[in-house]
Amino acid sequence: MVATTEELLELHGRIRECTACPLHVTRTQAVPGYGPVTARIMAVGEAPGETEDREGKPFVGAAGQLLTRLLESVGLDRRDIYISNIIKCRPPGNRDPEQSEVESCSHFLDEQVAMLQPDVILVLGRHALARILPGAGSISRLHGQRVRRDTRTYVPLYHPAAALYNAGLLETLEADMQRVRGYLADAEARRATAAAPAAAAAAVTEAPRDQLDLF
Ligand code: SF4
Repeated sequence: MVATTEELLELHGRIRECTACPLHVTRTQAVPGYGPVTARIMAVGEAPGETEDREGKPFVGAAGQLLTRLLESVGLDRRDIYISNIIKCRPPGNRDPEQSEVESCSHFLDEQVAMLQPDVILVLGRHALARILPGAGSISRLHGQRVRRDTRTYVPLYHPAAALYNAGLLETLEADMQRVRGYLADAEARRATAAAPAAAAAAVTEAPRDQLDLF
């Protein structure tokens, strides 16, 4: 069952207070994630950058603006998407996250996924890919493809920051986003199909009072 907003905010509070790895010393603040607990789509990047560290929200710098534009290009409003990173505190100088930092922080992302139970996870960049789909392949091979694990769809994409100053990569990212539109429609259709028998069974077996409780 999807968690409540209060449960998600409680998790955000624990992340903001976390001192489990050395990044808590150099951060301005932790950046837990942003978006509604009811989001069916989750986007996961690498780590907060300078602007995110200052503002406490993910993807609010130049890469975030590009992400917003890419989402809008396929009819998505980022306010409907839950956005986070594999590690929640900025590495000094925006260096790559160290393995020990990823390991210390990973359980928070696992909790976020368990709370939201998203249908689709957009996996942004090679670090997120290595953490979320270990051993699946490189970002250069998997970008724009759909990877299904259990009932969830994962779509590896180049990180928007990498495409900011690389016109070729930006073109690829824009083309991949167009493919995402079809994946989302398929995921939505699968969810509706899966929900239909359950709803029908509930209508038959549940007493009227229980049905009222659903609303
Ligand atoms: Fe805690 Fe993660 Fe921040 Fe490290 S990066 S201090 S594990 S929240």
